[in-house]
Amino acid sequence: MGMFDGKKGLILGVANDRSIAWYISKFIMEQGGVCGFTHLPDKADDERKKNRMRVQKCIDDFPQQAKFLVPLNVQSDENIAEVMALAQSEFGQIDFLLHSIAFATLDDLKKDTIETSREGFKLAMEISAYSLLAVCNAAKGILKPAKLSDKREVVESGAAVLTLTYYGGERIVPGYNVMGICKAALDSCMKYAAYDLGLHGIRVNALSAGPLKTLAGSAAGVGDMQTVYDQMSPLQRCVTHEEVGRTGAFLLSEMSEGITAETMHVDGGFSEMGSPGRMLDKY
Ligand code: NAD
Repeated sequence: MGMFDGKKGLILGVANDRSIAWYISKFIMEQGGVCGFTHLPDKADDERKKNRMRVQKCIDDFPQQAKFLVPLNVQSDENIAEVMALAQSEFGQIDFLLHSIAFATLDDLKKDTIETSREGFKLAMEISAYSLLAVCNAAKGILKPAKLSDKREVVESGAAVLTLTYYGGERIVPGYNVMGICKAALDSCMKYAAYDLGLHGIRVNALSAGPLKTLAGSAAGVGDMQTVYDQMSPLQRCVTHEEVGRTGAFLLSEMSEGITAETMHVDGGFSEMGSPGRMLDKY
């Protein structure tokens, strides 16, 4: 018996086998869940169709559980609607929806934050924060509503939505720059979406992960951050992809029923430190 037996959902944001979304969805599928996947559209001149191919390679090991793989650019409402229509025809209603998407140009990430370009700011905000609202709105018709008894006890669980955030949206993390501002906006989008969808018993949460080496993570400079986490966090180490994957799956499962509008930190306790602690011993 797996904790996701009979559960179906959408996974947005696998780029390759290092993606956080992959670790969450792999755990879900190992626990019996069925998933529909999206990939970033391939460029017209890329004959190798690398974006698709990388995700296809991941899901090849799960032929029963990975139901489809289609392109998605969250900048297009039409494209989002197509993905939701496909999910509806495959699954009817869905039990979980993972949003694990962010983007800012390297040029903007490398600048001082006050030098962020107007276009770069809009692009980063659109893909990294607004897209959560757009996706929740497009999915609201297929996200399974909760069923409550006369005593307002849950008889059938409602769907759960999860997004991925980072501490750089709460505090200044030099180098995270414009993406920190996007994460602050995303955290707020998550809470307002939790309010709107809460009326139907649908939950929306965020997982704030410690630094992990992924495509997006490398662009945001996780290497330096990992050194600090190793020395400063209460656990004196960085978290692993597997740890983030398991907690992500928990937040998308019935096990977390009752939790909504919450940001759960999976960061070895780093975000609760008020001074460098043991890191000072090294100097
Ligand atoms: P990743 O590069 O594997 O995932 C980012 C995903 O965003 C990719 O799948 C990419 O295709 C997708 N994406 C970008 N632009 C898109 C668009 N226009 N339309 C649709 N999809 C688009 O890296 P990751 O680290 O797994 O990132 C996933 C999420 O986790 C991001 O929100 C990231 O900010 C967050 N996060 C990462 C870390 C870390 O250290 N890696 C820490 C905390 C939070």
